[in-house]
Amino acid sequence: MHKITIAIDGYSSTGKSTIAKQLADWLDYVYVDTGAMYRAVTLYAMENRFISEAHFDKQALIQALPNVSLSFKKNSETGKAEIHLNGRNVEPLIRSLKVSEYVSPIATVPEVRKKLVEQQQAMGEGQGVVMDGRDIGTVVFPKAALKIFLNASADERAKRRYRELVERGELVAYTDVLANVMERDHIDSTRKDSPLKKAEDAIEIDNSEMNLEDQFHVILQLAKDRIAGRV
Ligand code: C5P
Repeated sequence: MHKITIAIDGYSSTGKSTIAKQLADWLDYVYVDTGAMYRAVTLYAMENRFISEAHFDKQALIQALPNVSLSFKKNSETGKAEIHLNGRNVEPLIRSLKVSEYVSPIATVPEVRKKLVEQQQAMGEGQGVVMDGRDIGTVVFPKAALKIFLNASADERAKRRYRELVERGELVAYTDVLANVMERDHIDSTRKDSPLKKAEDAIEIDNSEMNLEDQFHVILQLAKDRIAGRV
């Protein structure tokens, strides 16, 4: 059957990866979580002391970029793809609030974006792919057959992220999570290179009041229509 490229963009914690994974599983497509790639580069920058609360040495990070190698490997137990940084599985480390605090400044660096976008384009080439991020429909795959732009209220998104962090055992305050969600939205949508914005031909869905099942059925139908060439 004809395979398409599906781009899922939107604000932080709108559930992009949840719907992207559901779709990829159902369609038997490759799923790529591009946020995990920016998070892994951020972890690298933190571990090498290029970024901290007091400073961000962009030039040092840019110079070190050739030493950063990212890959996704399937976890044989869960069946889920996990991100590896220079051969090390860093999936358990990249979702912390600390990484979330530094990731948006790191994602403003054009050299970082260029490297990751090239890798993302290569991963999607010639196969059915569902990719989620901030610039997939605008920059990575501007010709994607289906583009979804997810949104939800900041409060609802922060609640979701807070629940996730608490479930993973991280001690966080709800107000810090809300502040981080809003700060990332601001940096992501005002940066010069590839700002987060809805592609003109993207379909916007506000899922503040939608349950996961309803959302899945709506988006799956859109995907089926595109695959069948009905729209
Ligand atoms: O999707 P997730 O919340 O894990 O993304 C973390 C951060 O990575 C975003 O807030 C954004 O700064 C950056 N990002 C990006 N472009 C993408 C994916 C993520 O700039 N395609």
